[in-house]
Amino acid sequence: MSGFELEGHRPTWAEVNLDALAANYRAVRERVGAGVKVMGVVKADAYGHGAVECARRLAAEGAEWFGVASPEEAFTLRRAGVNQNILSFGGFWDGQAGECLRQRVVPVVYRLDMAEALDAAAGEAGVVADIHVKIDTGMGRLGVRYDEAAEFASKLREFKNIRVDGLMTHFAAADEPRRDCFTEEQLRHFREAVAAFRERGHAPTYEHAANSAATFAHPETRGNMVRPGGVLYGLWRDVLPPLADAPEFRPVMSVRTRVTLLKRVHAGETLGYGCTFEAAREMTVATVTIGYADGYARALSNRGRVIVRGRLVPVVGRVSMDLTLLDVTDVPGVETGDVVTVLGEDGGLSVPAEDIARTAGTLSYEITCGVSARVPRSYLAAGS
Ligand SMILES: *Cc1c(COP(=O)(O)O)cnc(C)c1O
Repeated sequence: MSGFELEGHRPTWAEVNLDALAANYRAVRERVGAGVKVMGVVKADAYGHGAVECARRLAAEGAEWFGVASPEEAFTLRRAGVNQNILSFGGFWDGQAGECLRQRVVPVVYRLDMAEALDAAAGEAGVVADIHVKIDTGMGRLGVRYDEAAEFASKLREFKNIRVDGLMTHFAAADEPRRDCFTEEQLRHFREAVAAFRERGHAPTYEHAANSAATFAHPETRGNMVRPGGVLYGLWRDVLPPLADAPEFRPVMSVRTRVTLLKRVHAGETLGYGCTFEAAREMTVATVTIGYADGYARALSNRGRVIVRGRLVPVVGRVSMDLTLLDVTDVPGVETGDVVTVLGEDGGLSVPAEDIARTAGTLSYEITCGVSARVPRSYLAAGS
């Protein structure tokens, strides 16, 4: 347990283990080898872990590229002094071209008017702007359709102040073995698009396609850069397909709180909103100060499990906005102030984000992204 003290604050916090993040990053690097760069995907505040702190640590581990969702996320990193390359996956929006240039944020481009705006801004500044062009090979979201890539490549040639530094695509189902044919088809379309760009005089430095799942399940997709997010944060059981040789990624986030109130509850009494839980016996119930406004999903009502004093105990009744109830009847010596781990590890036990996600009917990413701003992050690293 950390010595993170919240003296004068509500005792609910998230611990982010930066050594685990670094170990996961190294595990990816080791797997892909020296010829392939590993972009650290830190969008959405590093999946809830804190983009600035995670990017700083990954930079110290040698990361040369970071992936974010928007220019705003990139500017946040720049303000914090992160000076590695940053790719904005979402591109940029009206009025952001100049600021992207000034702050050396490389946008993903997927519309001609974006190239035009950036070209104009770069011309004014007297520089050449790097872009990465996204090819839609089957995801159907952002990206130039693969069957329109050649035409797009030709038209881009008209803009003298931009350079295609990278070509990329994104896989829809790299984690699903029964969709391997689809993934292979996406890769084929991507390679054709890359060839079309090269034939039209573009010379991209980077070709990248692989998210976490593709990096591990489809090595042929790696190109010369991979873009893992989830596995860096130790989220993998519901992200990678079952693989014989998946590294043991370490969970990075733990969310903890403390017992605020203990009470006796008699058989036949009900607990919480909607009276959804009825005590079948004399019970000891703990109230903890965490709820769905902190990201502890309401779907965990009567279903979640948390760690108290080295035991897994059940959530009873509905999770409410700010408070949750636990059955601690079988926890010897339980006291007000005891630490409660709702996500992550404590001693030998763990409540993985993947398990919470399965219970809540979602993906582990949504669990860590959902840990709200109301929960302060505490960063752990050896020697700090
Ligand atoms: C989020 C994202 C990734 C990382 O995906 P993971 O599944 O977290 O590895 C890679 N590329 C793009 C374009 C993304 O949006």
